[in-house]
Amino acid sequence: MSTQTANATAHESMFEAVLARLDVAAKLMNMSEDVATILRSPIKQVKVSLPVMMDNGKIQVFEGYRIVHSTVLGPSKGGIRYAMDVNQDEVMALAAWMSFKCAVANLPYGGAKGGIKCDPRAMSVGELERMTRAYATSMKDVFGVNKDIPAPDMGTSGREMAWILDEFNKVTGEDSPGVITGKPIVIGGSLGRDAATGRGVMVNTLAALKKMNLNPKEITAAVQGFGNVGSHAARLLAEQGIKIVAIGDHTATFYNEKGIDIKEALEYAAKNGRVLKGFKGGTEIKSNEILTCKCDVLVPAALQNVITEEIAHGIQAKLIVEGANGPTMPEADAVLNDKKIIVVPDILANSGGVTVSYFEWVQNKAGYYWSENEVNTKHDEKMELAFSSVWHNASHYKTSMRIAAYITALQKIEQGVQLKGNY
Ligand code: GLU
Repeated sequence: MSTQTANATAHESMFEAVLARLDVAAKLMNMSEDVATILRSPIKQVKVSLPVMMDNGKIQVFEGYRIVHSTVLGPSKGGIRYAMDVNQDEVMALAAWMSFKCAVANLPYGGAKGGIKCDPRAMSVGELERMTRAYATSMKDVFGVNKDIPAPDMGTSGREMAWILDEFNKVTGEDSPGVITGKPIVIGGSLGRDAATGRGVMVNTLAALKKMNLNPKEITAAVQGFGNVGSHAARLLAEQGIKIVAIGDHTATFYNEKGIDIKEALEYAAKNGRVLKGFKGGTEIKSNEILTCKCDVLVPAALQNVITEEIAHGIQAKLIVEGANGPTMPEADAVLNDKKIIVVPDILANSGGVTVSYFEWVQNKAGYYWSENEVNTKHDEKMELAFSSVWHNASHYKTSMRIAAYITALQKIEQGVQLKGNY
């Protein structure tokens, strides 16, 4: 793989970081400038103020967003995140990534993202419910089963999806479970959705190891993040015989060269407020040390922008599989490429979640539900296909997997724009 990368300058704006990579891919594949121009601006940006009655009897106003980046390939799709750093620029970047992610996974969707600037860990269930319902009502004209379909992301889960569905149903006066995915099973969720993003990470890791002629049974991995993505990824990788030597979340990080018992870690977290603090299955290390620890595979599955240029210099893994969205800064890409570290980029590596969201939507539309095995088999097939097309483009265009993933997506979106005559 060559060392073509996005601009090696510091990117303050996440959306600019997306555009920098888009430019590199567009140039390499010789994409129409008009299409690039269209993709540089999201098609819809909604910002709302949500007054919420807090438990102390006072009103707090929360900032909420929904940004639709593209609807060229179908209705827009993407999660809703609750975090303190949610802002317009971040949501724009995440929305664009959804357009590319859905195109890479070959799903009939465009991309969108939403979010509320809040600290969900500091809020009561009642406060969260009132805020979520206020957000759903304010987005009643944005969301739609064939229009814009939200899902969980950082800080949200099936619980919030159920509230949003309920609110949307009240407003529309009908039951449309397909307007949102990642729902609890009894109200129209799909089996396999909860573990899907982690499962996609596992399938992509195995596919990459195969190309690298490495045997999973002789491989060690470090997984940063022990939430929905990281915990399932660690469990599924361990089930494939990969030795997990490091895990961590926002409360604590552990290393154990003999391997961490992931079942034990999962049980520990389940009993201790879903966090790892106090876990005894390894030596506690500093949170950032997980990125540079001795391991073959690194799975950043927590936050964005954790792999800086400096960290990239210290990374010992030969393979990085991005469970989180945007964990690697553009300036780190160059370093990783120079070190010949293979990076399975976020828009491919974590597309398992939206893939099973698509299956959920299909099941909701059909009113007929599949077995978990059927979901997993179809998911694995789609992931393997997506991996192969990106791998193929990486060697065809002599570029990194990241730029190749953008190319894979942009080829489809470009065709869509040209066929629809969207300009
Ligand atoms: N939030 C997830 C993502 O970033 C899932 C999106 C979805 O299922 O629509 O891919």
